[in-house]
Amino acid sequence: MPVALLPPTTGSAVSLDVKALTTGPRFLRTQGMSRWHRPRSGSRHGDRDCYTAWCGYNIGSSDRARALTADEIPAGELVCATCEGRAIGAGQEEQQPGGRRLGFGPRELRPPKNCPGSRRAFLAPLPGGTTARCLVCGDTHPVRAMGGPYNPRFGLIQHPPGAALVEPCPFHRWRQLTITDRTVSCTCGRPTPAPAA
Ligand SMILES: [Zn+2]
Ligand SMILES: [Zn+2]
Ligand SMILES: [Zn+2]
Repeated sequence: MPVALLPPTTGSAVSLDVKALTTGPRFLRTQGMSRWHRPRSGSRHGDRDCYTAWCGYNIGSSDRARALTADEIPAGELVCATCEGRAIGAGQEEQQPGGRRLGFGPRELRPPKNCPGSRRAFLAPLPGGTTARCLVCGDTHPVRAMGGPYNPRFGLIQHPPGAALVEPCPFHRWRQLTITDRTVSCTCGRPTPAPAA
């Protein structure tokens, strides 16, 4: 049974032919590893799948031919404690060990406190000119003049993300949004569609 993966967030550029994996094996390791790890996220590069374990190891890629996967690990073999605790805490297992509930929520996956459309011209003006609809989150907010006297521009006031916040880029989340012809996307070129109503 594959497990659900988190998005493979990164601060680096990711070419458009790389795909984010949404499911992966429950346990994996290379033949050289002394213990099993658990995948947090994964990406597909051509015919190569590469996983990042909860503890930070990257498994796959050139190791693919040697990477082992398992649904249950053989009796007596070790599991990486960091991977196991974080995987369970983040919800990759339904069963919680020992009757305790573990919790682990990677901070960078939460929606931003302020909408990325704040203080920017990601907006569709509304009649009257004092308010506009945010093209990132769908909410309506007042428009303010921003920038200095030599580069005046108009932007929405700072605001929390509305319910119609665009879907995040699987690699860059909401951190690198750009706008072309009133369509918001990630600067890497991946679309960030509005959520289904
Ligand atoms: Zn690990
Ligand atoms: Zn907004
Ligand atoms: Zn992106």
